[in-house]
Amino acid sequence: MSIRFHSEGGAGEVTGSKHVLSIDGARCLIDCGAFQGRRDEAEAKNRALVPDPESISSVILTHAHFDHCGMLPLLAKRGYRGNIYATPATRDLAGVVMMDSASIQARDAEYLGKQAARRGDKFEWKPLYDEEDVIKASSQFITVSYNRPLPIGDGIKVELFDAGHILGSAMAFTHARDRSGREVTIAFTGDLGRKGKPIIRDPAAIPAMDYLVLEATYGDRLHESTSDAMDRLADIVNQAVARGGRIVIPAFAIERTQELVFYFHLLVDQKRIPEIPIWVDSPMAINATSIFQIHPECYDEETHEAFIRHHENPFGFNSLHFSSSVQDSKRLNDYKGPVIIISADGMCEAGRIQHHLIHMISDPSSTILIVGYMAANTLGRRIRDRESEVRIHGEVFKVKARIEEINAFSAHADYHEAWEWMSGLDLSKLKKVFLVHGESSGLSHMAEFLKEKGIAEVQVVKYGETYEL
Ligand SMILES: [Zn+2]
Repeated sequence: MSIRFHSEGGAGEVTGSKHVLSIDGARCLIDCGAFQGRRDEAEAKNRALVPDPESISSVILTHAHFDHCGMLPLLAKRGYRGNIYATPATRDLAGVVMMDSASIQARDAEYLGKQAARRGDKFEWKPLYDEEDVIKASSQFITVSYNRPLPIGDGIKVELFDAGHILGSAMAFTHARDRSGREVTIAFTGDLGRKGKPIIRDPAAIPAMDYLVLEATYGDRLHESTSDAMDRLADIVNQAVARGGRIVIPAFAIERTQELVFYFHLLVDQKRIPEIPIWVDSPMAINATSIFQIHPECYDEETHEAFIRHHENPFGFNSLHFSSSVQDSKRLNDYKGPVIIISADGMCEAGRIQHHLIHMISDPSSTILIVGYMAANTLGRRIRDRESEVRIHGEVFKVKARIEEINAFSAHADYHEAWEWMSGLDLSKLKKVFLVHGESSGLSHMAEFLKEKGIAEVQVVKYGETYEL
């Protein structure tokens, strides 16, 4: 029995999660994520790191983020025909995420092809996969609800527990029995969420396990409390309304946008902010929101209390509008304010958000509200760092809008929160913790931290290495 980690964590990198659990002849792949980074480097890694489909007997998908599901279509394209196990909400959201990636790759290939032709160069870049491969992968899903143990192959059983990270996110609790009759339990957290996040439940307690594969994205950082987010949001909106300006929020299409909509709904209901128009301006966010609407089985008690019991839709209210067409999106620029516009991309690197920034960034009455992580060298980071000038679509703009930031929205447990979750579990038979999915400083800090807490065996995993269980 062994486990092999195909993921890679390095300074400043977002990893593509892929773990292979082997029991005798069976090999179960947990997640098949995409590596994200500079185009050529990311593409080379993504081509090379997808495991040989012949060697995989089943796949478990923990959640729908691109760095966990993004390479499933490539696995299907290369011939994987087995099952992909996931919760129903993860299957639906992953469909949107994979399709979006296929269409971005197709558009990139077309654009780069035209550029190369103009220069008279030969162009050989091909997308990693297309829409047909996404459809192929989508047809291989077997959906499993939380807490429904299911045999998924010779000697392997899996039970999914709520990870509290994004809608549908799950921890995979696997029970393995080899030919000699030896039994081992291995729990994969996928991405571990946080207590008190809106809409979704807190991370669930899981049964006692022999091995724990734990993510350490925030292995050396602590967040603002989730309970502060709504108060801060109300303050920022009320100040912006008093100035009569517009508020633009760059937000990731999945989870962050719906959390914002959810909070705005509560704030309007509680009359803590005036009923000003709120626009969700991102086709992917609109698709994702409709998936949130059809999965009330993932909502937490507070969401039931506030909305479902009153026959209300958390993601629909009078002042909320969705703009799916480009014309609608352009019309938003004529709004003098106050208005709230939530738009993608979350790091301002592409998409409709850039058009809104062009119209608002030099207007002192406007507010740009940062609610997510901004990677180095992105437009979002430059705005967050309050640089005096930024370049958008090749043009230079003076930054005169008010820049605000709320850090309480993170979907990942920080190291204190991870320990709070772990310390509520039965750790009496725990043999080893494998740490994955983090930058090197976070991983080593988390390892030290867990040892101080009394966990004897903590292994920071090495990419490509196989560990015997
Ligand atoms: Zn995630």
